[in-house]
Formats: sequence, structure tokens, C-alpha cells
Amino acid sequence: MKKLLLIAAVGLLGGVLRAQTAPSGYCGTLQTESDLTWLRNYQATYVPGELERGGTTYYIPTKVHIVGTDDGSGYYNLSYLYQSFCELNEHYAETGFIFYIYGDLNYVDNTDYYEHDWFDGSNMMEDYNVNNLLNVYFVSDPAGNCGYFSPSDDGVAVAKSCAMPGGTTIAHEFGHFFSLPHTFYGWEWGTPDDNDQEWVNGANCHSAADGFCDTPPDYLPYRWNCPGPLQTDPHGETFYSDGTFYMSYSNDACTDKFSAEQQDAMISNLLGPRNNFLDYPTPAYADLTEASTLITPEDAAINQFSNYLVFEWTPVTGATQYHLQLAYNASFSAIAKDVVTTNTFYEATDLQMDKKYYWRVRPLAPANTCASPSNARSFTTGTELNSVANSEIFDHLAVYPNPALVGQNLTMEYRSAESFRADISLLDMTGRELTSTNYQINQGNNTLDVAVPAVSSGMYILRITAENRIETISVMIRN
Ligand SMILES: [Zn+2]
Repeated sequence: MKKLLLIAAVGLLGGVLRAQTAPSGYCGTLQTESDLTWLRNYQATYVPGELERGGTTYYIPTKVHIVGTDDGSGYYNLSYLYQSFCELNEHYAETGFIFYIYGDLNYVDNTDYYEHDWFDGSNMMEDYNVNNLLNVYFVSDPAGNCGYFSPSDDGVAVAKSCAMPGGTTIAHEFGHFFSLPHTFYGWEWGTPDDNDQEWVNGANCHSAADGFCDTPPDYLPYRWNCPGPLQTDPHGETFYSDGTFYMSYSNDACTDKFSAEQQDAMISNLLGPRNNFLDYPTPAYADLTEASTLITPEDAAINQFSNYLVFEWTPVTGATQYHLQLAYNASFSAIAKDVVTTNTFYEATDLQMDKKYYWRVRPLAPANTCASPSNARSFTTGTELNSVANSEIFDHLAVYPNPALVGQNLTMEYRSAESFRADISLLDMTGRELTSTNYQINQGNNTLDVAVPAVSSGMYILRITAENRIETISVMIRN
């Protein structure tokens, strides 16, 4: 019950904040003094310069949740994800923090979470947060904001539109996660008492606003463009807010830093209440200086099929995964498919017919998402379908054309991990064997032609027998 009341209160205040902000809500994080208990205790004994910064790398395991609609559309573009994480780590470089994507991306199809209010946002985090990880949700609308950190649910939600390359919303929200208040803390709730407004002379910097003495006065709890308006403190001294802080509300392009005291607080928060993050094994870091070279399909290829296309590219030293991206446009903003795989090939079986696509591949390492994607290629799918088997003998197997005509060849396209001999037979639907030939199957990508005998029109079975393994695939034959 207490939690429900808290959510209701936060929701109400979020509404107030949004009413004050223009043109759109920025950060919905509303910390109270009780949320800042750790920070206030820490600041009470803080000695500037005592904590040694630099030289130590802290890996932060981050659980990434990609939220879409009920029908699985609207996902955050993974190119933006990887580029944003790369930039995020540049923003945090002085702290030594490296945020890395822990485990698989978690896809959530739920329209109520995709565009959520405070209540559903809280439910979302209760449903999907993974303990002992920094949980971040990429959604369409996080309660009317660009993003927020929820202290009660201990998770971060970010709007896709505010998580574009060049943005700093993720850096800002992760700052909240590691204990930082806004530089204008206190003004979220209206005009604070004179003693709680940070003075230009610095005399109350320890007790007012964010409690950091190297973040000067800032009274701007709405989105503003640097240099911002001239303000006056309770002593009549005028000042401009410093818009270069990630924890201010200045436009993203203005921001480029955390102060030394903010960095010390985040590191101390990590070493203190969040030290469970340090228990994880160090993820492999690799430089990833090369890009993949695309092998198949050829650039501008016209493919026979829409339901069967194999993509292949060259491996990159140090890469543990690859991001294959298929788009409907050359700028890769309209995404058809995002695939993350440990292989250097991918078999697509669900593309649209007669459609032009663009594709590219980006190598990934656990703590490095900064590699450039390959050059892009395009291809166009055909209007035919072929039979694709969910093969246990082969890495992949497709048979075409289907239907086939008497006198034609049936082409078996396969990728095999090893070479072996196999009997390939054609059977009628009663199981009677019409033809059978022993073939050499070669390792790698290959095709093999099987003659279609003179039979009457109907369904037949192509059977592949290799040692003790049997694979069957249905084919239609017409004469
Ligand atoms: Zn904020």
C-alpha cells in the first residue's frame, strides 16, 4: 500500500514537472531526501581529492530491455543502441566506468510498457528487472519524459527518441542510478527556501541543492538551451547556470561532463552499496579495429526467393558477436530485422517478397560496441518460395524450386559442418522409393542437383540418409 501511495505521489509530481517543462518532458526522475540518504551521509564526510581517480576500470553489467508493442514492432534500432553505449562510455571515461551489455538483449512485447504511465512503468520493472544488474528499458514513451530513474524500482527507462547517437539522456539517467541528483535539485518541487537555494558565494554549497561544491548554482528545472537565462540568487548576485553538466537540464549538445565531486560520488556509490557489480568476471575487451567484409549475397543481388536467403561475412579478430542489420532504406533508419549472432552467417526465412533491402554487419565484443559496421549492400527478394528444412544433419538446408517440374533438377542448397556420404531418395506419399543415389556431401556451403524423374503430379518426399540420421523434406512435383 505504501508503494502504491508513493507511485501515486510520484505520478502527480511528474505531472506537475511535465507541465513546467517545454517543449517536452526531459527527465522524470524525482528524488526526495529519503532517496538521497546514502549520498547525504557520504557527503557529510567527503574530503575532496581523497579518492584516487583514473587508472582503475570498473565494468558495469547492464541488462538491456528492448520494449516493443504487443505485435512486436517499434523496437529500438540496435545500431543506435551500440553507438549510444559507445558514446556513454566516452562520457564516463574519467570515472573509469565501462557499461557493457550483460547477456542477451531482453525483448518485451507489451504496448502498455512501450508507452507507459508511472504505474505501468513500475510494473514493467517489477516484471523484468534482473537482480544485481543495471536494468535499462528502451521504450517509446516513458511516462511523458525522455527518461527517468526510478529509485523505488531501481531501474532506468529511456525514450527511443532520446537515445539517438549524440544524445546524453542515458548518461544523465545512469548518473541518477549512481546517486547523483540534478544540479538544480530542489527546484523540481517549486522555489526552495532561500537557504536551500545554492548561493553564488558558495557558502551553502554543502547543504543546498545537490550538495556538490563544484557544481555552481542552477535554478533551471526545465529544458533550456545554453547559455540560458540570467538568474539572481537570494543575495542579489546574478549568474548563469553551467549547462555543461550532464545532470543539468540544458540541451544534450551543451553537456559534456560530470564534475570531479560527482565522479567521486558515483565511484564511491559503486564501491559501496552497488559493489555487487564488481563480483562479475571481467568481460573481454577487444579493440575491433577491422570491419567485416560481406560475402553473400552479392551487392545489388536479385534473389529467387523471399523465404530463404543466407547471409555470410568474414570474421573479425576479437569479435564475440555480430550485429546483422537489414533495413528498408540506405540510411538504416527503417529497420526490417536486427539479428545478434555468434556466427558469421545467418539464414533468413521470413523476408517480404519482391522487396529491396539493405544490409550490413557490425562486430561486437562484450565491452566494446564502438566498431564501425561494414559497408552496406542491397538485394531484392524474389516472388518464389522454397522448402526450408529445420535440419539436424545440416547447418541449414533448402530445396528449390518447389513446385518442381518433371525433367528439371531439384537443387539442394546446404551448409555442412563436415564431409560425408549420403543417400538421397525420392519417395511417393506411401513411402515407396522411386529413385535413390549415393552422393558426396562436402563441408561448407554447397549445392547439389537431384534429377526429378517422370512421375505424375503430386506431393513427394525427398529423403536424405546419412549414417544413422534421416532428414525428409516435402516437395511438389508437376508434369
Ligand atoms: Zn534527471
